[in-house]
Order: sequence, then C-alpha cells, then structure tokens
Amino acid sequence: MSAPRFEGRTVIVTGAGSGIGRAAALKFAEEGANVGLFDLDAERAESVRGELEAIRAGSGFVRTLDVSDTEAMADAYQAVNDRFGGLDAVFANAGINGAKGPIEHMELAEFQKTIDVNLGGMFLSVKLAIPYMKQRGGGSIVITSSVNGNTRFSSIGMSPYSTSKAGQVAFAKMAALELARYRIRVNTICPGAISTNIDETTEENGRMDEIAIPLEFPRGGDHPLAGSHGQPEEVADLAVYLASSEARHVTGASITVDGGESLLF
Ligand code: NAD
Repeated sequence: MSAPRFEGRTVIVTGAGSGIGRAAALKFAEEGANVGLFDLDAERAESVRGELEAIRAGSGFVRTLDVSDTEAMADAYQAVNDRFGGLDAVFANAGINGAKGPIEHMELAEFQKTIDVNLGGMFLSVKLAIPYMKQRGGGSIVITSSVNGNTRFSSIGMSPYSTSKAGQVAFAKMAALELARYRIRVNTICPGAISTNIDETTEENGRMDEIAIPLEFPRGGDHPLAGSHGQPEEVADLAVYLASSEARHVTGASITVDGGESLLF
C-alpha cells in the first residue's frame, strides 16, 4: 500500500454525518488525517466519529452546527485549529435539496433557505479557511456542487437547488483565482445521482403536477457506466484526490462524477 496522503494533516468535512461527507471523512482518516466533523445532526456526526475512532483513536472531532451560522462556524474552525494545530483542507459538502415546486407558487423564504445553506454555508466554509491556510502556506478546498445547475437542468421544480449548485461552481472559480497567491486551491465536484439520505431534505409543495415534464429514459437505463446510482465512496475518492498533493496543479476545476448520466439527459 502507498504511504498515507494525509499523515499529520487536518481536514474539515461539512455534512460529515451522512452520505458523501461520511464516506469522505472515513477515507481522509484512513489516509492519516485528523478530521473536523461538522453536521447539523449530532447523532449522525457522533456515529461517524465512532467509525473514525476505530480507524485511529482521537482522529475525529465533532461540531454540531448549521453551516450557514457565521458565529458557530467561526467558533468551530477555531476549535479544530486548537485541537489539531492547523488546517490543511476543507471539504465544503453540506447541502440540502430544499424547496421543490412551481416557481409561481414558491415563497422567497423557501427559495432563500436552499441558497442560505448551500451557497451561504459554502461561502463561510471557504472564507473561514483562508487565515488558517495562509498560516500553513497553502491548502485545498473542495466543494460539492452537482450536475444539476451545471450540465443538467431536467430536475423540474428544483430551481433553488440548481441555482445554488451553479453558484457554487462560479464562486469556486472566482475563489481559485483570488486565493492562488496564497497557494490555496479551490475545486468543485459535480456528482450525479448518488445513494445517500439527501431526499429526506426535499420540501415538495404538492403542486408538481402543474409543471411536470414526463421524461423517457433511453433503452439500457439512465446510468450508462454503472447501471445504477453511484455510491458515496465513488465521490469521496475524487474529493480526497483533489484535497491531496497529487492534485497540486489543479485549481478552479469542476469535475463531473456521474457515471456518464448527464451525457444522456
Ligand atoms: P446526505 O443528506 O446523505 O448528507 C448531507 C449531510 O449534511 C447530512 O448529514 C445533513 O445532516 C448535513 N446537513 C444538511 N444541512 C446542513 C446544515 N445546514 N449544516 C450542517 N450540516 C447540514 O446527502 P449527500 O447526498 O451526501 O449530500 C452531500 C452533498 O452532495 C450536498 O451538497 C448535495 O447537494 C450534493 N450532491 C448530492 C447528490 C446525490 O445524488 N446524493 C448529487 C449531487 C450533489
């Protein structure tokens, strides 16, 4: 086996309690990292900390918070720095599907909630990393966007989600250019459909029949490469690569990880 890529390094993972964040937290720990596990759901985050404990004692550190809460996030970044002595990488991954329904019947507050969590949380995750990474002489930030809003626009009714995911890619490219002088890299990953708990966060307003467009998938299915949804580990591998020094010349990139799904629809 090759040498662990994150020996002695510290990584923050947001949305670490489930799905893609959990899979990435486990991989970072397996690669030698200490991991700050940020999530809204204390129980899930604690359970992932338990899994990290089995990999290496003391490698996980939980903060239960909302990623769009400025004060809680600033406090948590400081706490990770105090606990592990620095910060090398951030996986800004927490997100929700949020409001789903016709734009005509959507309230601004419903639209805004998805933007606050997905875009606001990502903004804070990047902003707060800068002073710690400058101190380290560099770092890597990976943001979980989506094929939705970037290469795929067929998730009818999910206009807030797709807007937030498009915004993440634009923001990451702006940040990549701005932060290159500090040797901080910023990249986005755009997963297709992945088997996680994200559907629990959909808030459908019951009027989807007004805007539905029946989609007929091509013979052979809608997942050309794997035949089914992707797995969180398949996305986590990409996140770990981008956070590692193997990707030292990669910044401002947006990489699709969808088994070819968005080539079809
Ligand atoms: P998930 O629901 O399994 O995990 C997301 C985690 O984020 C949960 O543990 C949840 O508690 C946490 N979270 C939600 N809101 C939060 C907040 N405000 N503050 C802190 N934590 C919060 O979902 P997932 O699929 O692993 O989602 C991770 C990311 O992947 C999201 O940004 C999502 O948009 C993106 N994504 C998912 C898919 C997919 O098909 N699953 C596809 C493309 C992109």
